[in-house]
Amino acid sequence: MTLYDTAGPASLSRAEIADLTAQVAGPVVLPDDAGYQDECATFNLMTPVRPAVAVGATSAADVQAAVRFAAGRDLPVAVLATGHQVVRSAEGAVLLNMSRMNAVHVDPTRNLARVEGGVRWRQVLPETDKYGLAPASGSSPTVGVVGYHLGGGLSPVLGRMHGYAADHVQALEIVTADGELRQVTPSSEPDLFWALRGGKSNFGVVTALEFALFPLKHFYGGGLFFAGEYAAKVLHTWRNWVVGLPPEMTSSIAFLRRPPRPEMPEPLRGTFVMHVRFSSLQPQEEAERLLAPIREIAPTVMDTITELPYSMAGKVHMDPPNPVPWVERAAALRDFPREAADALLAAVGPDSGARLVLVEIRALGGALERPPAVPNAVAGRSVRWQVVGLGAGSPDQIPVFQEQLKNVVDAVAPWAQNEMYANLLTAGQGTTPEELRAIYGHERYDRLAAIKKRYDPRNLFRMNHNITPA
Ligand SMILES: Cc1cc2nc3c(=O)[nH]c(=O)nc-3n(C[C@H](O)[C@H](O)[C@H](O)COP(=O)(O)OP(=O)(O)OC[C@H]3O[C@@H](n4cnc5c(N)ncnc54)[C@H](O)[C@@H]3O)c2cc1C
Repeated sequence: MTLYDTAGPASLSRAEIADLTAQVAGPVVLPDDAGYQDECATFNLMTPVRPAVAVGATSAADVQAAVRFAAGRDLPVAVLATGHQVVRSAEGAVLLNMSRMNAVHVDPTRNLARVEGGVRWRQVLPETDKYGLAPASGSSPTVGVVGYHLGGGLSPVLGRMHGYAADHVQALEIVTADGELRQVTPSSEPDLFWALRGGKSNFGVVTALEFALFPLKHFYGGGLFFAGEYAAKVLHTWRNWVVGLPPEMTSSIAFLRRPPRPEMPEPLRGTFVMHVRFSSLQPQEEAERLLAPIREIAPTVMDTITELPYSMAGKVHMDPPNPVPWVERAAALRDFPREAADALLAAVGPDSGARLVLVEIRALGGALERPPAVPNAVAGRSVRWQVVGLGAGSPDQIPVFQEQLKNVVDAVAPWAQNEMYANLLTAGQGTTPEELRAIYGHERYDRLAAIKKRYDPRNLFRMNHNITPA
């Protein structure tokens, strides 16, 4: 069982792909070929892809050849960087695996990074660290840099200070549906520059991305873990406390149920805990002064808060380092009052019987609400609290997880809003045009759909949360 129907790949013969194979430097594989599984591997094991043909791109020229091949046969194009947010099975599609395009270049004289289209954050952070610079990266080092930016890019360390990562993109290179390689900047392709930063993967294959870096070598942060018996007190104290933090500090909270596996740190193995995540750009003394009300709640079962090099920012959330099978749902809230916290405690607290591995609430605000210097399509700047639930386990558990995830979304529904942040759109589950219109808001959606019509009139790039050409 997977999260979408898969009737099996539409087939192409070896003769049909002979020209493509000759033009592409990377592997070009059909479903029966030995390398097919590797080219199709996804981080979320619950969202497999089964394209008609998979192309391991090594350059923009490889991408152009694959897009032109697909366009010539009217086949959809699917883009896979890491497989954290696969929406559709890519059946019948030409899949571009971007993982070989992983060059990173840091320019410390201009505080800029340029990366190729398949780079993950874990490949960037050690390079930027060398110069005491930091990108507005996300919670997980395994996430793809381009996919993250195309949806906005919410950084748990730098977001409240500097806004969404997409606000700091300087230039992109993209292969559009006509097979052209375009340099996209605010002056060269203003509409595309606006749409790509927030409109996700609807407009083409991004082969390179250039973005600003911030001077930062270390920050103070990590997590405080509290036993389940304190869940209500921790959640209510955190909710009141977090709204008073300055933008240099960021916090989120998670209900965690960690499986009894040996790789789990001992105090968390097989238990329910509340995880308060915290990061501060201010010095340790000031951070600890503001953290005091949280530390006073109860003794912690684990405390990982310390000074960290920015390349260790993944330690704040402790997202899984290796592929896992999961299902997820998210909600965007304008408010998180006492009643909402109580409803969440009833749905997923220690006595709820829920089996979700994680339900997190990120408190946003600060620069995340600010319009960017160069306008872009990032949706959800009015969201104040972001809720994500996750069930991880074997496919036969999907129905139970789906029911419990629905309980989470229902619990906070009175405080939820339609417009939300695109990186939170559920993996494994497509959205209807009407849902996507509500998520982006009418004006933004109409402009995205008009730009889509100009650059991808036949909707070649539709294996995603799809904006249909207007
Ligand atoms: C554990 C975890 C933690 C996360 N933490 C954060 C966070 O802190 N902040 C945040 O904002 N988001 C976060 N996300 C969401 C994440 O940013 C999105 O899921 C993002 O789309 C993942 O991109 P990817 O390339 O890794 O995944 P993929 O599944 O490979 O790609 C996701 C989408 O982007 C498209 N895409 C990828 N590369 C390209 C390219 N080169 N050209 C065109 N399209 C491309 C794909 O086609 C697909 O539609 C998190 C997700 C997970 C699973």
